[in-house]
Amino acid sequence: MDAYTDTRVTKASVNYGPGMVDGDRCGICTHYCAGPGPRKDYGRCELVLGTIYAKAWCRLFEERPDAADQKGPQDQKRDAA
Ligand code: SF4
Repeated sequence: MDAYTDTRVTKASVNYGPGMVDGDRCGICTHYCAGPGPRKDYGRCELVLGTIYAKAWCRLFEERPDAADQKGPQDQKRDAA
Protein backbone atom coordinates (compact mmCIF):
# COMPACT_ATOMS: atom_id res chain seq x y z
CA MET A 1 0.00 0.00 0.00
CA ASP A 2 1.43 3.40 -0.94
CA ALA A 3 0.79 6.80 0.65
CA TYR A 4 -1.89 7.62 -1.91
CA THR A 5 -4.16 4.65 -1.36
CA ASP A 6 -7.68 5.75 -0.44
CA THR A 7 -8.61 3.94 2.77
CA ARG A 8 -12.07 5.46 3.14
CA VAL A 9 -14.99 3.06 3.49
CA THR A 10 -18.39 2.93 1.77
CA LYS A 11 -21.48 4.61 3.20
CA ALA A 12 -23.32 1.29 3.43
CA SER A 13 -20.58 -0.28 5.57
CA VAL A 14 -20.98 2.37 8.29
CA ASN A 15 -24.79 2.74 8.30
CA TYR A 16 -24.69 6.23 6.74
CA GLY A 17 -28.16 7.73 6.79
CA PRO A 18 -30.35 10.45 8.32
CA GLY A 19 -28.97 12.36 11.32
CA MET A 20 -29.69 11.16 14.84
CA VAL A 21 -32.59 12.37 16.99
CA ASP A 22 -30.17 13.78 19.60
CA GLY A 23 -28.68 16.13 17.00
CA ASP A 24 -25.55 14.11 16.17
CA ARG A 25 -24.80 14.65 12.48
CA CYS A 26 -21.95 14.94 10.00
CA GLY A 27 -21.94 18.74 10.27
CA ILE A 28 -20.62 18.54 13.83
CA CYS A 29 -18.39 15.48 13.34
CA THR A 30 -14.64 15.83 13.62
CA HIS A 31 -14.20 13.97 10.31
CA TYR A 32 -16.42 16.30 8.23
CA CYS A 33 -15.03 18.84 5.74
CA ALA A 34 -17.74 21.26 4.56
CA GLY A 35 -18.08 22.05 0.89
CA PRO A 36 -17.37 25.55 -0.42
CA GLY A 37 -19.81 28.46 -0.66
CA PRO A 38 -23.52 27.80 -0.95
CA ARG A 39 -22.92 24.04 -1.06
CA LYS A 40 -21.45 23.95 2.44
CA ASP A 41 -24.09 21.39 3.52
CA TYR A 42 -22.52 18.92 1.11
CA GLY A 43 -18.91 18.08 1.89
CA ARG A 44 -16.41 15.30 2.29
CA CYS A 45 -15.43 12.92 5.06
CA GLU A 46 -11.97 11.74 6.06
CA LEU A 47 -13.31 8.22 6.61
CA VAL A 48 -16.27 7.69 4.26
CA LEU A 49 -16.40 7.81 0.46
CA GLY A 50 -18.61 10.08 -1.61
CA THR A 51 -20.43 13.34 -1.06
CA ILE A 52 -21.48 13.71 2.56
CA TYR A 53 -24.58 15.60 3.66
CA ALA A 54 -24.10 17.74 6.79
CA LYS A 55 -27.41 16.52 8.24
CA ALA A 56 -26.61 12.81 7.79
CA TRP A 57 -24.80 10.53 10.27
CA CYS A 58 -22.81 7.26 10.40
CA ARG A 59 -21.58 4.97 13.14
CA LEU A 60 -18.05 6.42 12.95
CA PHE A 61 -19.40 9.76 14.24
CA GLU A 62 -17.12 11.61 16.67
CA GLU A 63 -18.40 14.91 17.99
CA ARG A 64 -16.14 17.91 17.43
CA PRO A 65 -14.96 19.58 20.67
CA ASP A 66 -16.74 22.80 19.70
CA ALA A 67 -19.94 21.04 18.60
CA ALA A 68 -22.00 22.22 21.58
CA ASP A 69 -21.88 25.73 20.12
CA GLN A 70 -23.51 24.46 16.92
CA LYS A 71 -26.29 22.40 18.44
CA GLY A 72 -29.67 24.02 18.88
CA PRO A 73 -31.32 24.43 22.32
CA GLN A 74 -33.38 21.26 21.77
CA ASP A 75 -30.25 19.23 20.97
CA GLN A 76 -28.51 20.47 24.12
CA LYS A 77 -31.56 19.63 26.24
CA ARG A 78 -31.57 16.06 24.87
CA ASP A 79 -27.81 15.67 25.50
CA ALA A 80 -28.26 16.74 29.12
CA ALA A 81 -31.10 14.24 29.73
S1 SF4 B 1 -17.42 9.90 10.09
FE1 SF4 B 1 -19.56 9.49 9.62
S2 SF4 B 1 -20.68 11.01 10.89
FE2 SF4 B 1 -18.57 11.72 10.68
S3 SF4 B 1 -18.54 13.07 8.86
FE3 SF4 B 1 -17.95 11.01 8.21
S4 SF4 B 1 -19.88 10.12 7.48
FE4 SF4 B 1 -20.42 11.84 8.79
